[in-house]
Amino acid sequence: MPSIPCPKCKTPLAFELPKVLDGKTFTCSSCQTVIAISYEDNKQSLDKATEALDKLKDELDID
Ligand SMILES: [Zn+2]
Repeated sequence: MPSIPCPKCKTPLAFELPKVLDGKTFTCSSCQTVIAISYEDNKQSLDKATEALDKLKDELDID
């Protein structure tokens, strides 16, 4: 699962890509900071992650 460092406490936070793509926010489990990843700001890396996820799904034959 992809992860980003919390902007406040630097704890690596795993994020669920579908939620990010939906524009949902998530909360740091360590400091409770609410984080919103901007799809537009991170389009390149998110697109790459999506591609990798799709590839993995194909390889594992799951949906
Ligand atoms: Zn944090």
